[in-house]
Amino acid sequence: MGITALSDLAKSAICPRLVVKVGSALLIGADGTRRAWLAGLVAELAAARARGQDVIVVSSGAIALGAAKLGLPKGGRGSLADAQAAAAVGQIALAGLWAELLAAEGLVAAQLLLTLEDLEDRRRYLNATATLGRLLDAGAIPVVNENDSVATREIRFGDNDRLAARVAQAAQASAVLLLSDVEGLYDRDPADAAARLVPVVKGITPAIHAMATGGSTSGLGSGGMTSKLQAAEIADLAGIALAIINGTKDSPIARALDGSIGTLFVPRRKTGARKAWLGGRLRLKGALTVDAGAAKALAGGSSLLAAGILTVDGEFRRGDAVAVCDKVGRVLAHGLVEYDSADCAMLRGRQSGEHAALLGYAPRPAIIHRDQLALL
Ligand code: GLU
Repeated sequence: MGITALSDLAKSAICPRLVVKVGSALLIGADGTRRAWLAGLVAELAAARARGQDVIVVSSGAIALGAAKLGLPKGGRGSLADAQAAAAVGQIALAGLWAELLAAEGLVAAQLLLTLEDLEDRRRYLNATATLGRLLDAGAIPVVNENDSVATREIRFGDNDRLAARVAQAAQASAVLLLSDVEGLYDRDPADAAARLVPVVKGITPAIHAMATGGSTSGLGSGGMTSKLQAAEIADLAGIALAIINGTKDSPIARALDGSIGTLFVPRRKTGARKAWLGGRLRLKGALTVDAGAAKALAGGSSLLAAGILTVDGEFRRGDAVAVCDKVGRVLAHGLVEYDSADCAMLRGRQSGEHAALLGYAPRPAIIHRDQLALL
């Protein structure tokens, strides 16, 4: 029994573990934090817990809060240094606020600050999984944010939408609820009077991507619809549902779930946990472009052989994660390579029978074995 409607997100039997992401624009108003609104949301989280659901919060707001305290321009997003300083100041206040309001509902808050690398590296990812699992078992509510003060530009998530989806993968959650400042995904620019809310999405096709317009409208967060669709793709890989709902209203979760107002991305598949982690990786060491024959073979479940590789980009080592792309640059899969980039380049386009002579040692059966390939 899977999640097929927004109301399912309130059912502990169908949705035993929920990740709720709260954006900066919801938490912070013109006069500082929106305490009353947040207290209402926390009451809803407590209600979810009372229904028997595990709840993980992914909370933005550190940068915006810190920038206000330090008097930094552009909401602290003028430069990376500003954002890092702002986050360091704001995170204390943010965590304190969550701890205080959750405690008022009799709940214990647990702070987890993660970087992109914490979830890209398999060992650290499993560590995060174990910590989240233990906290939930012990009855706490993990409150997660990106560790913005140490993450440099290259190694940042940059938005909490994708962070929430990765956390959901790590915690094996059933669904992610993204609280936004819009009702959900519209079929065109929401400013257009003809725009309609899309209630259910099954598969994030190019047509769905075309509906998303640009970055954050509030200017406080960094998300926008594009990063929400990326989050939906990451969740989908792991068989996790994702919903975008309007968080600006009172009791936003009940409003959206009871009234069926929002967009639900119904997952189409359930890749094994390890392949979901691989497919959801955001940083890759290189890319292999393959011909049409190889693309077809991959879709049929085969390993990637050298004969079908057209180009090798990037510098990588055996065991690194790379993208596998078709000729027009579409990413078909993520995989862990069996050879360094130099050897891949040497073997590219060559039949298996030639490999031993080229390498000078017994070759491996494939460039990427099918067990190490996550099709996207
Ligand atoms: N991690 C950032 C913060 O706490 C927010 C990222 C986002 O806007 O999604 O301020």
